[in-house]
Amino acid sequence: MKKGLLIILSGPSGVGKGTVRQELFKDQSLNLAYSISMTTRKPRPTEQEGVDYFFVSETEFLNKIENDELLEYAKFVGNYYGTPRFYVEQLLNEGKNVVLEIEVQGALQVMRKCPQALTIFLVPPSFEELERRIRGRRTEAEDVVKERLDKARKEIATKDEYKYVVENDDVLAAKEQISRIIRENA
Ligand code: 5GP
Repeated sequence: MKKGLLIILSGPSGVGKGTVRQELFKDQSLNLAYSISMTTRKPRPTEQEGVDYFFVSETEFLNKIENDELLEYAKFVGNYYGTPRFYVEQLLNEGKNVVLEIEVQGALQVMRKCPQALTIFLVPPSFEELERRIRGRRTEAEDVVKERLDKARKEIATKDEYKYVVENDDVLAAKEQISRIIRENA
């Protein structure tokens, strides 16, 4: 069976990676599977264990690193985030196109390990719009918002490392553009 495509969907916090991903997953013909990440961040009110993330303690996370169970990981604004290796490999072997929705440090690690990965970077229409989206979420304290914005500037500066850069001005237009990219590469 043909192995699936490893797809990295990256971009700054607040750019709308999650929303675009949800639209992509409505299209069954893309044959997508989502890699559920592990994090030490506390769940937001709407988030579910094993759906949005696997929520773990820092000790558990450090154990996973130690045992080489993560394909990549990064510390992002005070919390660890990482991709469990096992499911990604299993899903790729089943022929699924596996989506990793991850931040930049992790994306760069996967690029080095898997140069064949399809790498897509989502950018906001403007930095002001990104700030509006992050503040609109209203789930973070001001110092965390500031840190995420600061981080976002540095993340956007790495966009040329990716094979494709897609602007997320309109969610459905971004989804269509990414669908086309996946079809061309699958
Ligand atoms: P949030 O706290 O907003 O859910 O996520 C913060 C950032 O971490 C986002 O850019 C998100 O895409 C990224 N992220 C989520 N899961 C992973 C992961 O497994 N690895 C890495 N490197 N980043 C992740």
